[in-house]
Amino acid sequence: MTRTVRINRDRLWASLMELKQIGAYHDQATGLPGVRRLALTDADAEARRRCVDWMLQAGLTVRVDRIGNVYATRPGRDRSLPCVLMGSHIDTVATGGAFDGTLGVLGGIEVMRTLNDAGIQTLRDIEVGFFTEEEGVRFGTDMLGSAVTAGRIPLDHACKLTDADGKTVGDELIRIGFDGDADERRPIPHAYLECHIEQGPILADAGVDIGIVQGVQSISWQRLTVRGEAAHAGTTPIAARHDAGLVAASVVVEARRMCDSGDFGQLRATVGNFDLGAGQTNVVPHQATLTIDLRNPADDHMTAAEQHLACYVDQLAARHGVQVAWERMAKTAVVPFHPAIQDLLAATADDLGLPYVRAMSGAGHDAQEISAICPTAMVFVAGENGGFSHTPREYSNPGACANGTDVLANAVLRLADQP
Ligand SMILES: [Zn+2]
Repeated sequence: MTRTVRINRDRLWASLMELKQIGAYHDQATGLPGVRRLALTDADAEARRRCVDWMLQAGLTVRVDRIGNVYATRPGRDRSLPCVLMGSHIDTVATGGAFDGTLGVLGGIEVMRTLNDAGIQTLRDIEVGFFTEEEGVRFGTDMLGSAVTAGRIPLDHACKLTDADGKTVGDELIRIGFDGDADERRPIPHAYLECHIEQGPILADAGVDIGIVQGVQSISWQRLTVRGEAAHAGTTPIAARHDAGLVAASVVVEARRMCDSGDFGQLRATVGNFDLGAGQTNVVPHQATLTIDLRNPADDHMTAAEQHLACYVDQLAARHGVQVAWERMAKTAVVPFHPAIQDLLAATADDLGLPYVRAMSGAGHDAQEISAICPTAMVFVAGENGGFSHTPREYSNPGACANGTDVLANAVLRLADQP
């Protein structure tokens, strides 16, 4: 017979509200209090120490690995079995809120407290952890700590990454005292579960607090540099121009047309960086650079979208007599989460009487890295205000946070008792 636990809602909420004070700032754009806790800054260090305090108070054994990931263990009856791992991140973007990442970490700590209160001993060890530099804002590579743990990024490469001031990950880990000595290629868990806010509107639109995440969609980042020819704006005939700016602008419009066409599934295309260099009012632009961010929940649609865009740009370049160079910045395929773990989460939500929907994740998460080493799935929690995130408007209500954490707690309990 399956045991059921309920987390302490007030205690979880109090932890979330306490941690958001660390790195708090006043956001001019929204007039709201926000959180700015970039990885390995003083604010991040203080938040790390607070979480470690909470872990120790819950009677957990804490260790830090060589990329600064922190894990806390609650022992099971058979220490020889692989553990069940919960986790997420506590670093934020520069304009962050109180829930992104922290819900999964503080929720995981709350699960441990709840098991203590109930006097439950599980068969397997349970661990809760947080990963270094998930956001990628400071050192330019997102999901850094989990990617190192999963073996996708070598430790020495990660430690040499620099921020805008030239400070390295390795030096900053030492400076804040989180240069641990545990092996970054940690023991393989039995399963990994991550509870995270949705950061989108799907759950709220469906009227549910809970999402069972099917996987993370494919992401493609490319930088396009267009080289044309500078020429006089008043005297150069239109037909004689090699206008790099015009070509770049056409790519922006085509990217949107592709999304609207429906030919590429649920494609999302964004040109977030567009630069004409030292543009002059009366000179035809000789160079333009732009970034193209493509997202797609289906790999074949992503491939088709990339191929179409490449063809379109080739034809455009020929027509306007410009040179184009592509630079690949990032590419990840669709990461499907483990079907049996998804089903276990769904059964857990059913038993708790919590309605849910199944959905793909639009954003990247540590779980997509950890899924390379063990069975992995995620629980999403609905947000209010359209699910906005990476802004102080980010908000999930106490009930939704607690319901998501209840699903996490009971799913972990089931996994930790699996022989
Ligand atoms: Zn996050």
